[in-house]
Amino acid sequence: MINNCMKNEDYPRTKKDAIAAGLKHFFTNKRCLNDHLDLRTIHSGQCVLCRREYFRRHAIEQRKNPAFRKYQREYQAKYKLTERGKQNISKAHAKHKRKLEALRDEVRKTDSS
Ligand SMILES: [Zn+2]
Repeated sequence: MINNCMKNEDYPRTKKDAIAAGLKHFFTNKRCLNDHLDLRTIHSGQCVLCRREYFRRHAIEQRKNPAFRKYQREYQAKYKLTERGKQNISKAHAKHKRKLEALRDEVRKTDSS
């Protein structure tokens, strides 16, 4: 299910109707080859769960590729120097710090009792 306000059954039954309604998914109420019962994309007609599994496997394969990892390292090094990168990194650090402080408080409570 993509949109939390809409049940699978509320989606159009055909790709054509979904396009006409301006939606990106439709629901055939038929199982896919991998036995999923979920929405299908108008893009490829592929079941949403099959598509998600495909991208997950693809991401895992990519992480094993040295050329991709090199590209990622270089991209991240450049990103750190941008204004947006600096902002997001300091946000992440602040979030991590809050988490650690919360953990410390938790430990103090259990120590004193
Ligand atoms: Zn599927």
